[in-house]
Amino acid sequence: MTALITTPGFVDAHIHPDKTTWGSGWLSRTPAQSLTDLIGNDLRAQLSLQDSVEDRAYALMSQAVLNGTMAMRAHVDVAPQIGLKNIHGVRAAAERLAPFLNVQVVAFPQFGLLSNPGTLELMEAALTEGADLVGGIDPESVDGDLHGHLDAIFALANRHGRDLDIHLHDVGAEGLAQLRVIAGRTVAEGMQGRVTIGHGFALCDASQPAIGATLEALADAGIWMATCALGADPVPDLDLVESHGVKVALGSDGVRDAWSPFGTGSMMDRAHLLGYRTGASTDDELERCFRLATTAGAELLGSAVVKGFSGPTSLDRLEFAANSIPELVVDRPAPLRVIRRGEAITLKA
Ligand SMILES: [Zn+2]
Repeated sequence: MTALITTPGFVDAHIHPDKTTWGSGWLSRTPAQSLTDLIGNDLRAQLSLQDSVEDRAYALMSQAVLNGTMAMRAHVDVAPQIGLKNIHGVRAAAERLAPFLNVQVVAFPQFGLLSNPGTLELMEAALTEGADLVGGIDPESVDGDLHGHLDAIFALANRHGRDLDIHLHDVGAEGLAQLRVIAGRTVAEGMQGRVTIGHGFALCDASQPAIGATLEALADAGIWMATCALGADPVPDLDLVESHGVKVALGSDGVRDAWSPFGTGSMMDRAHLLGYRTGASTDDELERCFRLATTAGAELLGSAVVKGFSGPTSLDRLEFAANSIPELVVDRPAPLRVIRRGEAITLKA
């Protein structure tokens, strides 16, 4: 017989609601051989979409809410090609969902920072028009200037008292070397505990000789890793990463956008995918996937609503038909009810 279990809400630590086509027509994708191809496809797709950022973001974010997400960190593109309309659109969608969802917005230089002139000025403007954090992207391979990129984003973060969340796709020894530079910079700037690395694919290759030293440098700097368990991309060895003291949270990344047709905005699905991709089989391993999708993300985002969960009578909770958390992660059902402030939520489309 199946029991009713209650859990804390989900936290999506890394999602891109401004790029999604959720709720719109189908987008057919163009083949891509490289990160540069993917970024080019993304910009072309965004410029061709007819539905507004707010409408598309609202469609995806409300889907996330109905599936139990109570807080999310949204990376939102900023570039001269699109101005600040993505920031304004995601912030407007977030305001409509404010009773149910806490949204942190990262100003994200998807199309390059120094290599895309005008972006840095717009990033600064974004921080007074709805963005909460400063983002970064592959300082070396996308922007071509590791130290220049870090100088710019750390200065922006310091000037406005904001945290940093940096996408780093680069792999191998070069990716690890960049991570150690970021860790050193984080300590030098006194920003321990306030920097996150998104993806960090270099950290997923346990055969690299410098993996241990790099994880230790990240742990010393209090740097978080946001991982997304994406299709063909590498996933971290969670035992290895956590044994060095690096904290990990889980996110969706892009959902039904130019990068990927996959994703649902459900963190239940994402916890399942993390378990599947990392070969989780013991209860501890499956429960860890659930923790990364809930309380770990809540620690990263400072989500009091999720951190405050205390059991079946919590005013903010999820209810599922399942016998245990490990079973939940394997079966990935939708919540029976999402309870906020003691009441089951309903949303208008
Ligand atoms: Zn991302």
